[in-house]
Amino acid sequence: MVGRAGRWFCPVGKPLDGECQFMANAIEIEDLRKTYKGSGGQPPKEALKGVNLSIPQGSIFGLLGPNGAGKSTMINILAGLTIKTSGKVSIWGFDQDVNPRQSRAAIGVMPQELNLDPFFTPRGALEVQAGLYGVPKRDRRTDEILEIIGLTDKADAYARNLSGGMRRRLLLGKALVHNPQILVLDEPTAGVDIELRQMLWANVRRLNEERGLTVILTTHYLEEAQEMCDEIAIINHGELIKRDTTKNLLGMMDAKTLLVEPEGTVPDSFDLPEGVKLERRRDGSLAFDFSRGQTSVGALLDAVRNAGITIGDVRTLEPDLEDVFVELTSSK
Ligand code: ADP
Ligand code: MG
Repeated sequence: MVGRAGRWFCPVGKPLDGECQFMANAIEIEDLRKTYKGSGGQPPKEALKGVNLSIPQGSIFGLLGPNGAGKSTMINILAGLTIKTSGKVSIWGFDQDVNPRQSRAAIGVMPQELNLDPFFTPRGALEVQAGLYGVPKRDRRTDEILEIIGLTDKADAYARNLSGGMRRRLLLGKALVHNPQILVLDEPTAGVDIELRQMLWANVRRLNEERGLTVILTTHYLEEAQEMCDEIAIINHGELIKRDTTKNLLGMMDAKTLLVEPEGTVPDSFDLPEGVKLERRRDGSLAFDFSRGQTSVGALLDAVRNAGITIGDVRTLEPDLEDVFVELTSSK
Protein backbone atom coordinates (compact mmCIF):
# COMPACT_ATOMS: atom_id res chain seq x y z
CA MET A 1 0.00 0.00 0.00
CA VAL A 2 1.25 3.47 -0.81
CA GLY A 3 2.90 5.25 2.07
CA ARG A 4 2.75 2.19 4.31
CA ALA A 5 6.49 1.83 4.55
CA GLY A 6 6.89 5.40 5.75
CA ARG A 7 9.32 7.96 4.37
CA TRP A 8 12.21 10.14 5.33
CA PHE A 9 11.07 13.40 6.73
CA CYS A 10 13.21 16.53 6.80
CA PRO A 11 12.05 19.89 8.10
CA VAL A 12 11.62 22.38 5.26
CA GLY A 13 14.87 24.12 4.35
CA LYS A 14 17.04 21.70 6.31
CA PRO A 15 19.76 19.67 4.60
CA LEU A 16 19.11 15.97 3.98
CA ASP A 17 21.33 14.83 6.81
CA GLY A 18 21.27 15.80 10.44
CA GLU A 19 17.76 16.52 11.54
CA CYS A 20 15.96 14.11 9.26
CA GLN A 21 14.03 11.23 10.76
CA PHE A 22 12.19 8.25 9.45
CA MET A 23 8.47 8.87 9.62
CA ALA A 24 5.91 6.12 9.36
CA ASN A 25 3.10 7.85 11.17
CA ALA A 26 0.81 10.43 9.65
CA ILE A 27 -0.25 11.57 13.11
CA GLU A 28 1.27 11.33 16.55
CA ILE A 29 -0.63 12.38 19.63
CA GLU A 30 0.89 12.40 23.11
CA ASP A 31 -0.98 12.90 26.36
CA LEU A 32 -3.63 15.03 24.68
CA ARG A 33 -6.02 16.77 27.04
CA LYS A 34 -8.93 19.09 26.52
CA THR A 35 -11.11 20.66 29.16
CA TYR A 36 -13.93 22.89 27.97
CA LYS A 37 -14.59 25.79 30.31
CA GLY A 38 -18.09 25.63 31.72
CA SER A 39 -20.38 28.36 30.49
CA GLY A 40 -23.75 29.50 31.86
CA GLY A 41 -23.16 27.88 35.24
CA GLN A 42 -22.10 24.57 33.69
CA PRO A 43 -19.08 22.86 35.28
CA PRO A 44 -15.94 22.45 33.13
CA LYS A 45 -15.99 19.39 30.88
CA GLU A 46 -12.94 17.18 30.55
CA ALA A 47 -13.47 15.93 27.00
CA LEU A 48 -10.03 14.34 26.47
CA LYS A 49 -8.16 12.86 29.41
CA GLY A 50 -4.62 12.21 28.18
CA VAL A 51 -4.86 10.37 24.88
CA ASN A 52 -1.82 8.74 23.24
CA LEU A 53 -2.29 7.63 19.68
CA SER A 54 -0.31 7.20 16.49
CA ILE A 55 -1.92 6.76 13.10
CA PRO A 56 0.13 5.10 10.36
CA GLN A 57 0.59 6.65 6.94
CA GLY A 58 -1.59 5.26 4.23
CA SER A 59 -4.12 3.63 6.52
CA ILE A 60 -7.85 4.01 6.78
CA PHE A 61 -8.11 4.55 10.48
CA GLY A 62 -11.30 4.49 12.52
CA LEU A 63 -11.95 6.51 15.63
CA LEU A 64 -14.87 4.76 17.18
CA GLY A 65 -16.93 5.71 20.20
CA PRO A 66 -20.41 6.62 21.41
CA ASN A 67 -21.81 10.14 21.27
CA GLY A 68 -19.96 12.47 23.61
CA ALA A 69 -16.85 10.26 23.72
CA GLY A 70 -14.57 13.07 22.51
CA LYS A 71 -14.14 12.15 18.83
CA SER A 72 -15.00 15.54 17.35
CA THR A 73 -12.91 17.28 19.99
CA MET A 74 -9.90 15.23 18.92
CA ILE A 75 -10.53 15.81 15.22
CA ASN A 76 -11.05 19.53 15.70
CA ILE A 77 -7.78 19.78 17.61
CA LEU A 78 -6.00 17.97 14.76
CA ALA A 79 -7.56 20.37 12.29
CA GLY A 80 -6.49 23.41 14.28
CA LEU A 81 -10.12 24.40 14.92
CA THR A 82 -10.10 23.70 18.67
CA ILE A 83 -7.24 24.62 20.97
CA LYS A 84 -5.96 21.79 23.13
CA THR A 85 -5.48 22.26 26.85
CA SER A 86 -2.19 20.32 26.86
CA GLY A 87 -0.29 17.57 25.10
CA LYS A 88 1.61 17.19 21.87
CA VAL A 89 0.23 16.78 18.38
CA SER A 90 2.36 16.12 15.29
CA ILE A 91 0.81 16.05 11.86
CA TRP A 92 2.89 14.70 8.99
CA GLY A 93 5.95 15.24 11.12
CA PHE A 94 5.11 18.84 12.01
CA ASP A 95 4.58 19.72 15.65
CA GLN A 96 1.39 21.72 15.77
CA ASP A 97 2.84 24.23 18.23
CA VAL A 98 6.09 24.69 16.34
CA ASN A 99 4.85 24.60 12.73
CA PRO A 100 1.16 25.43 12.88
CA ARG A 101 0.93 26.38 9.21
CA GLN A 102 2.54 23.22 7.83
CA SER A 103 0.68 20.94 10.19
CA ARG A 104 -2.59 22.50 9.14
CA ALA A 105 -1.73 22.25 5.45
CA ALA A 106 -1.22 18.50 5.74
CA ILE A 107 -4.79 17.81 6.82
CA GLY A 108 -8.21 18.29 5.28
CA VAL A 109 -11.34 17.90 7.36
CA MET A 110 -14.86 17.11 6.32
CA PRO A 111 -16.80 18.42 9.33
CA GLN A 112 -19.70 16.77 11.05
CA GLU A 113 -22.06 19.70 10.43
CA LEU A 114 -23.26 20.89 7.05
CA ASN A 115 -21.88 24.41 7.03
CA LEU A 116 -22.22 25.59 3.46
CA ASP A 117 -23.04 29.04 2.25
CA PRO A 118 -26.29 28.58 0.29
CA PHE A 119 -25.32 31.34 -2.15
CA PHE A 120 -22.22 29.60 -3.41
CA THR A 121 -22.09 27.16 -6.27
CA PRO A 122 -19.91 24.04 -5.86
CA ARG A 123 -17.30 25.60 -8.13
CA GLY A 124 -17.44 28.87 -6.18
CA ALA A 125 -17.23 27.13 -2.81
CA LEU A 126 -14.18 25.12 -3.91
CA GLU A 127 -12.45 28.22 -5.28
CA VAL A 128 -13.07 30.22 -2.10
CA GLN A 129 -11.78 27.35 0.03
CA ALA A 130 -8.65 27.09 -2.14
CA GLY A 131 -8.16 30.82 -1.67
CA LEU A 132 -8.43 30.45 2.11
CA TYR A 133 -5.66 27.87 2.01
CA GLY A 134 -3.53 30.08 -0.21
CA VAL A 135 -3.53 27.68 -3.17
CA PRO A 136 -2.35 29.70 -6.19
CA LYS A 137 -4.79 29.81 -9.13
CA ARG A 138 -2.50 27.73 -11.37
CA ASP A 139 -2.34 24.93 -8.77
CA ARG A 140 -6.06 24.67 -8.21
CA ARG A 141 -7.73 21.40 -9.08
CA THR A 142 -11.33 22.52 -9.02
CA ASP A 143 -12.47 20.54 -12.07
CA GLU A 144 -10.68 17.41 -10.94
CA ILE A 145 -12.27 17.63 -7.49
CA LEU A 146 -15.72 18.22 -8.97
CA GLU A 147 -15.16 15.03 -10.94
CA ILE A 148 -14.03 13.07 -7.87
CA ILE A 149 -17.12 14.08 -5.90
CA GLY A 150 -19.44 13.57 -8.86
CA LEU A 151 -20.65 17.17 -9.03
CA THR A 152 -19.32 18.17 -12.45
CA ASP A 153 -22.79 18.65 -13.83
CA LYS A 154 -23.87 20.65 -10.76
CA ALA A 155 -20.74 22.80 -10.72
CA ASP A 156 -22.67 26.00 -11.27
CA ALA A 157 -25.87 25.28 -9.33
CA TYR A 158 -26.45 27.16 -6.09
CA ALA A 159 -25.76 25.14 -2.96
CA ARG A 160 -29.29 25.78 -1.70
CA ASN A 161 -30.57 23.82 -4.70
CA LEU A 162 -28.39 20.80 -4.01
CA SER A 163 -29.70 17.70 -2.25
CA GLY A 164 -28.36 16.82 1.20
CA GLY A 165 -26.17 14.15 -0.34
CA MET A 166 -24.66 16.52 -2.86
CA ARG A 167 -23.89 19.03 -0.12
CA ARG A 168 -22.04 16.40 1.81
CA ARG A 169 -20.02 15.51 -1.23
CA LEU A 170 -19.22 19.18 -1.64
CA LEU A 171 -17.91 19.21 1.93
CA LEU A 172 -15.67 16.30 0.99
CA GLY A 173 -14.45 18.29 -2.00
CA LYS A 174 -13.70 21.32 0.18
CA ALA A 175 -11.54 19.13 2.40
CA LEU A 176 -9.43 18.20 -0.64
CA VAL A 177 -8.68 21.58 -2.27
CA HIS A 178 -5.23 22.05 -0.76
CA ASN A 179 -4.19 18.51 -1.64
CA PRO A 180 -3.68 17.31 1.94
CA GLN A 181 -1.88 14.07 2.78
CA ILE A 182 -4.45 13.28 5.47
CA LEU A 183 -8.20 13.34 5.06
CA VAL A 184 -10.39 13.42 8.15
CA LEU A 185 -14.07 12.60 8.00
CA ASP A 186 -16.13 13.34 11.08
CA GLU A 187 -19.22 11.09 11.13
CA PRO A 188 -19.47 11.33 7.36
CA THR A 189 -22.47 9.09 6.97
CA ALA A 190 -24.58 10.00 9.98
CA GLY A 191 -28.09 10.50 8.63
CA VAL A 192 -27.04 9.74 5.07
CA ASP A 193 -28.89 7.28 2.87
CA ILE A 194 -27.33 3.99 1.80
CA GLU A 195 -26.67 4.99 -1.77
CA LEU A 196 -24.71 8.09 -0.80
CA ARG A 197 -22.90 6.15 1.86
CA GLN A 198 -21.70 3.62 -0.70
CA MET A 199 -20.63 6.40 -3.00
CA LEU A 200 -18.74 8.27 -0.30
CA TRP A 201 -16.94 5.11 0.66
CA ALA A 202 -16.05 4.27 -2.91
CA ASN A 203 -14.57 7.77 -3.28
CA VAL A 204 -12.62 7.53 -0.07
CA ARG A 205 -11.26 4.08 -0.85
CA ARG A 206 -10.11 5.26 -4.25
CA LEU A 207 -8.33 8.28 -2.77
CA ASN A 208 -6.64 5.96 -0.31
CA GLU A 209 -5.60 3.37 -2.87
CA GLU A 210 -4.63 5.58 -5.79
CA ARG A 211 -3.10 8.52 -3.96
CA GLY A 212 -2.01 6.94 -0.70
CA LEU A 213 -4.14 9.39 1.20
CA THR A 214 -4.27 8.60 4.90
CA VAL A 215 -7.90 8.58 5.97
CA ILE A 216 -9.20 9.03 9.49
CA LEU A 217 -12.87 8.68 10.12
CA THR A 218 -14.96 8.93 13.21
CA THR A 219 -18.12 6.98 13.51
CA HIS A 220 -20.44 5.50 16.04
CA TYR A 221 -21.55 2.93 13.49
CA LEU A 222 -19.61 -0.18 14.30
CA GLU A 223 -20.51 -1.79 11.04
CA GLU A 224 -18.98 1.08 9.12
CA ALA A 225 -15.70 0.93 11.02
CA GLN A 226 -15.58 -2.82 10.57
CA GLU A 227 -16.14 -2.57 6.85
CA MET A 228 -13.85 0.36 6.09
CA CYS A 229 -10.97 0.52 8.54
CA ASP A 230 -7.61 -1.26 8.69
CA GLU A 231 -7.11 -0.16 12.27
CA ILE A 232 -9.39 1.15 14.94
CA ALA A 233 -9.07 3.15 18.13
CA ILE A 234 -11.96 2.96 20.55
CA ILE A 235 -12.55 6.01 22.66
CA ASN A 236 -14.98 6.39 25.54
CA HIS A 237 -15.41 9.20 28.10
CA GLY A 238 -12.33 10.99 26.73
CA GLU A 239 -10.04 7.99 27.12
CA LEU A 240 -8.55 5.63 24.59
CA ILE A 241 -9.62 2.19 25.68
CA LYS A 242 -8.30 0.08 22.82
CA ARG A 243 -6.33 0.40 19.63
CA ASP A 244 -5.65 -2.48 17.30
CA THR A 245 -6.15 -3.81 13.82
CA THR A 246 -9.76 -4.48 12.98
CA LYS A 247 -8.84 -8.12 12.51
CA ASN A 248 -7.31 -8.45 15.97
CA LEU A 249 -10.20 -6.66 17.61
CA LEU A 250 -12.60 -9.13 16.07
CA GLY A 251 -10.31 -12.02 16.99
CA MET A 252 -10.16 -11.09 20.68
CA MET A 253 -13.70 -12.17 21.26
CA ASP A 254 -13.94 -15.48 22.95
CA ALA A 255 -17.67 -15.82 22.50
CA LYS A 256 -18.96 -17.73 19.52
CA THR A 257 -22.24 -19.01 18.25
CA LEU A 258 -22.80 -22.36 16.56
CA LEU A 259 -25.91 -22.43 14.44
CA VAL A 260 -27.43 -25.84 13.75
CA GLU A 261 -30.32 -26.52 11.42
CA PRO A 262 -31.80 -29.82 12.54
CA GLU A 263 -33.61 -32.29 10.34
CA GLY A 264 -36.60 -33.96 11.96
CA THR A 265 -37.56 -33.56 15.58
CA VAL A 266 -35.58 -32.05 18.41
CA PRO A 267 -36.08 -33.26 21.99
CA ASP A 268 -37.44 -30.71 24.48
CA SER A 269 -34.32 -30.96 26.58
CA PHE A 270 -30.93 -32.58 26.29
CA ASP A 271 -27.48 -32.48 27.88
CA LEU A 272 -25.02 -29.79 26.80
CA PRO A 273 -21.41 -29.14 27.81
CA GLU A 274 -21.08 -26.73 30.71
CA GLY A 275 -21.51 -23.03 29.94
CA VAL A 276 -23.29 -23.55 26.63
CA LYS A 277 -26.54 -21.65 26.16
CA LEU A 278 -29.16 -22.78 23.70
CA GLU A 279 -31.55 -20.47 21.95
CA ARG A 280 -34.29 -22.04 19.85
CA ARG A 281 -34.92 -19.72 16.93
CA ARG A 282 -38.28 -19.19 15.34
CA ASP A 283 -37.14 -20.70 12.03
CA GLY A 284 -36.45 -23.99 13.86
CA SER A 285 -32.67 -23.59 14.00
CA LEU A 286 -30.71 -24.02 17.22
CA ALA A 287 -28.22 -21.33 18.25
CA PHE A 288 -25.62 -22.45 20.77
CA ASP A 289 -23.66 -19.68 22.46
CA PHE A 290 -20.37 -20.91 23.80
CA SER A 291 -16.93 -19.72 24.77
CA ARG A 292 -13.95 -21.02 22.82
CA GLY A 293 -11.93 -21.26 26.01
CA GLN A 294 -14.48 -23.55 27.60
CA THR A 295 -15.95 -25.75 24.87
CA SER A 296 -14.88 -26.91 21.43
CA VAL A 297 -17.13 -27.08 18.39
CA GLY A 298 -16.43 -30.83 18.26
CA ALA A 299 -17.68 -31.43 21.81
CA LEU A 300 -20.75 -29.36 21.11
CA LEU A 301 -21.58 -31.26 17.92
CA ASP A 302 -21.11 -34.55 19.78
CA ALA A 303 -23.65 -33.42 22.37
CA VAL A 304 -26.11 -32.52 19.62
CA ARG A 305 -25.73 -35.91 17.95
CA ASN A 306 -25.96 -37.74 21.27
CA ALA A 307 -29.34 -36.08 21.78
CA GLY A 308 -30.50 -37.91 18.65
CA ILE A 309 -30.65 -34.76 16.52
CA THR A 310 -29.87 -35.10 12.81
CA ILE A 311 -27.79 -32.14 11.68
CA GLY A 312 -28.99 -30.73 8.34
CA ASP A 313 -26.67 -27.76 8.24
CA VAL A 314 -24.21 -26.21 10.61
CA ARG A 315 -22.16 -23.02 10.74
CA THR A 316 -20.45 -20.77 13.26
CA LEU A 317 -21.21 -17.07 13.62
CA GLU A 318 -18.19 -14.87 14.22
CA PRO A 319 -18.41 -12.02 16.68
CA ASP A 320 -18.59 -8.53 15.20
CA LEU A 321 -17.32 -5.19 16.43
CA GLU A 322 -20.56 -4.63 18.26
CA ASP A 323 -19.64 -7.49 20.60
CA VAL A 324 -16.12 -6.17 21.05
CA PHE A 325 -17.41 -2.73 21.82
CA VAL A 326 -19.92 -3.92 24.41
CA GLU A 327 -17.23 -6.07 26.01
CA LEU A 328 -14.76 -3.18 26.23
CA THR A 329 -17.13 -0.50 27.42
CA SER A 330 -19.30 -2.53 29.80
CA SER A 331 -16.73 -2.43 32.61
CA LYS A 332 -16.76 1.38 32.59
P1 ADP B 1 -18.19 13.03 20.06
O1 ADP B 1 -17.75 13.71 18.80
O2 ADP B 1 -17.47 11.77 20.35
O3 ADP B 1 -19.68 12.82 20.10
P2 ADP B 1 -17.45 15.52 21.34
O4 ADP B 1 -15.99 15.66 21.15
O5 ADP B 1 -18.33 16.33 20.46
O6 ADP B 1 -17.84 13.99 21.30
O7 ADP B 1 -17.80 15.89 22.86
C1 ADP B 1 -17.10 15.37 23.97
C2 ADP B 1 -17.63 16.00 25.25
O8 ADP B 1 -17.28 17.38 25.27
C3 ADP B 1 -19.15 15.96 25.34
O9 ADP B 1 -19.49 15.76 26.70
C4 ADP B 1 -19.58 17.31 24.88
O10 ADP B 1 -20.78 17.68 25.48
C5 ADP B 1 -18.44 18.20 25.34
N1 ADP B 1 -18.24 19.34 24.46
C6 ADP B 1 -17.99 19.31 23.13
N2 ADP B 1 -17.83 20.55 22.63
C7 ADP B 1 -17.98 21.40 23.67
C8 ADP B 1 -17.93 22.83 23.82
N3 ADP B 1 -17.66 23.62 22.78
N4 ADP B 1 -18.13 23.34 25.05
C9 ADP B 1 -18.37 22.54 26.12
N5 ADP B 1 -18.43 21.19 26.05
C10 ADP B 1 -18.24 20.63 24.85
MG1 MG C 1 -18.82 14.22 17.08
